[in-house]
Amino acid sequence: MTSTQQDVPCREARGETEFDAIVVGAGFAGLYMLHKLRELGMKATAIERADGVGGTWHWNRYPGCRCDIESLAYSYSFSEELQREWTWTHRYAAQPEILSYLNHVADRFDLRKDIQLSTSVTAAHYDDASATWAVETDSGERLRSRFFVMATGCLSDRQVPNFAGLESFRGDWYHTGAWPHEGVDFTGKRVAVIGTGSSGIQSIPLIAKQAERLYVLQRTPQFAIPAWNGPMDPEVMRHTRENYADYRQKILDSFVAVPFETQDHGAHEADPQTREAVFEAAWKDGGYLMLLAYPDLIFDERSNAHVSAFVKQKIQARIDDASLAEKLTPSYPFGAKRLCVDTDYFETYNRDNVTLVSLRETPLQEIIPGGIRTSGGDLDVDVIVFATGFDAMTGALLAVDIRGRNGIALRDAWAAGPKSYLGIAVSGFPNMFTITGPGSPSVLSNMVPAIEQHVDWLGALLTYMRDNGFETVEAEREPELDWAARVDEIASATLYPRADSWYMGRNVPGKVEGFMPFAGGTIMYREIVEDIAARGYSGFALDSRTPARTVEHATV
Ligand code: FAD
Ligand code: NAP
Repeated sequence: MTSTQQDVPCREARGETEFDAIVVGAGFAGLYMLHKLRELGMKATAIERADGVGGTWHWNRYPGCRCDIESLAYSYSFSEELQREWTWTHRYAAQPEILSYLNHVADRFDLRKDIQLSTSVTAAHYDDASATWAVETDSGERLRSRFFVMATGCLSDRQVPNFAGLESFRGDWYHTGAWPHEGVDFTGKRVAVIGTGSSGIQSIPLIAKQAERLYVLQRTPQFAIPAWNGPMDPEVMRHTRENYADYRQKILDSFVAVPFETQDHGAHEADPQTREAVFEAAWKDGGYLMLLAYPDLIFDERSNAHVSAFVKQKIQARIDDASLAEKLTPSYPFGAKRLCVDTDYFETYNRDNVTLVSLRETPLQEIIPGGIRTSGGDLDVDVIVFATGFDAMTGALLAVDIRGRNGIALRDAWAAGPKSYLGIAVSGFPNMFTITGPGSPSVLSNMVPAIEQHVDWLGALLTYMRDNGFETVEAEREPELDWAARVDEIASATLYPRADSWYMGRNVPGKVEGFMPFAGGTIMYREIVEDIAARGYSGFALDSRTPARTVEHATV
């Protein structure tokens, strides 16, 4: 048995059904949350659907999958030993390397013995009398805990569009977010990739190199900035390792939790030559940080028009055929959909075996046994790759039948869109927490620091409860509504609502529209939540009533 396999029987079989805390998910968030709970002396368990830890990095094994935030920053900071002993081999590590890092974390902190793999949480109901959560899994286990933490991921509920005829397809099909562990051999195959978001853009160049023919079915063109990925400079690795405290401080001091120095004025205020030089430097540096070349690019229409024009011209220069280049050029504001980071994406369309199918011109009508029918004709394919994304931010939370005080369902509480206090807690759902939930910066930032910030903040809250004899904590309704209004207000001052993005919930048919993350940046967010903590967790109702239950394990 390898260290990545599960080596413990299920909790119920071991007669352990009562916990101080149950964590759902064992990705970056679940692993660190479990570690934190243990540090606090709690009896905790994590329950994970997958047959291994790693979350995103366990599921997304498609060709080309890698992080698009530099690995030095896209990594945990909570353990000095961990960051000193780990070596990243590339500027942007590939999926296998990130997965082995997370497996290393699970081993290093001895987390596996408290993780139940291959198990989905299906329901969690709060019982007011005992102030506990009754948690059910798909294996029929019934567990109980005082605290319930959803670490289920913002981008984990994958979406395969409901295309007519998929069941009739004779070939193989895959979603990028549930890629076979053994990989897929495209040699000699005719392949269709549907979707040109980050997953499509990373996988398309590699699939094109292997497949006999590749059709890319594009609904909306995407902005992508080259990664300029390469092996990690050993000197950079050594220097960062020896100065991690400084490096992590730069992360804390940055708008999106990635070390970067932006300009001190807006792009539209700069003289054209300087602006061009700044954009050019950001382009040469590559990646997601292009969005921060000036601080106002996502806020100011004029500044955004400048960067959009610059990047469009860069995109078009990468494609030989001018009319094809036009079809691949986006028309919404730069960065309003999640920016993609690519390696050879646009150049791939210069290959003879690659055909772009614009679904705006020739809509997809149905899947047929031999391939895909569009209004422009049939595409004969052997394999379909759905790079069609996720029901982001709320999908995995609402997939569980969560019921709070008086049996209220989270699905009903959020029928008009998610309302959450700070993206961490929901009124009516005591002692339940969401790591990087809607209403927090989460996906608008480097996610690992965002996760650590939430887990650390929760750790402090739980300590405060223990020290002050509080049994339950619950977001109050008014502060929650005020927070939701603030999230909306900041979003409406940005250009994000101008695109049909998953940030807005517009990628999932029938989903309530609204900008879900907090767009005020990680510095402002951290200041707000720390201030709330310093004021005795204002906006939260803390109750010291001893509930009618036997507390066998509770140590907080
Ligand atoms: P996840 O890693 O999604 O883990 C959640 C886990 O919960 C999953 O394993 C899932 O199986 C489990 N789960 C969900 N529901 C249940 C249930 N009901 N019962 C049991 N288990 C359940 N972010 C960045 O900042 N930088 C990047 O470069 C970056 N690259 C990405 C690349 C890809 C392909 C994708 C899809 C996302 C990327 N992200 C990136 C976002 C990424 O999701 C986060 O960075 C981070 O990995 C999230 O960790 P998490 O633990 O919160 O969630
Ligand atoms: P995505 O960004 O939502 O892209 C999905 C793609 O599928 C879009 O092009 C979308 O078109 C298309 N699509 C969806 N439904 C469709 C339908 N019914 N018909 C035709 N096309 C359809 O999903 P993703 O690429 O998996 O990325 C999700 C997020 O995960 C990213 O934004 C990023 O945050 C993260 N991620 C990061 C990396 C990385 O580089 N490290 C890699 C992968 C994912 P529309 O644009 O028209 O909706």
